[in-house]
Amino acid sequence: MDIIDKLTEVFKEFPGIGERQARRFVYFLMSRNGAYNENLSALILDLKKEVAQCKECFRFFILNKNKEKLCDICANTNIDSSVLMIVEKDSDLESIRKSRVYGGKYFILGGLVPIVEKNTKSRVRIEELKERVKKNHLQEIILAFSLSPQGDHTDTYVRNELKELAEKQNVKISSLGKGLSTGTELEYSDNDTLKNALKNRQ
Ligand SMILES: [Zn+2]
Repeated sequence: MDIIDKLTEVFKEFPGIGERQARRFVYFLMSRNGAYNENLSALILDLKKEVAQCKECFRFFILNKNKEKLCDICANTNIDSSVLMIVEKDSDLESIRKSRVYGGKYFILGGLVPIVEKNTKSRVRIEELKERVKKNHLQEIILAFSLSPQGDHTDTYVRNELKELAEKQNVKISSLGKGLSTGTELEYSDNDTLKNALKNRQ
């Protein structure tokens, strides 16, 4: 494998990037000058130094001077902590937060559960989620996954996993309403769509 193939393989791992696009990235980098590539490498290295993953919601956030372990949402005591919204990934959380239609806390599951998959536990943070539910005095858990077969499957999976705990602690589990049309990616939904989805949750 030459350097072009190696780098292509790396870019192919990026979300939504196929072989052809990955190769275009490599050719793009070849056409840039050395300073551009050096700056890019430095930024990539700094990324890990300057961000941390919140130990409560698992969201990535920019570290402040105090190097706190909690992100600004989890650290904010003014935010309603009786409602917990479970999302697939960081970009979903950011979309919902920007829309300002929801004022509770979050938890990032870290992926969707594939429909054909035996070892699901390694892929999503289900044990961490259970710990969080045990620890918090929740009234409601809102499952907010995209309306796709895999999103539905994840919804069912998480509901089953949390069922016992939720009954014991008297927590209601709801799913983001059908205001989203099938195949909708949460991160691309507009404010009105999200507002409706939240209102119609069941
Ligand atoms: Zn957090």
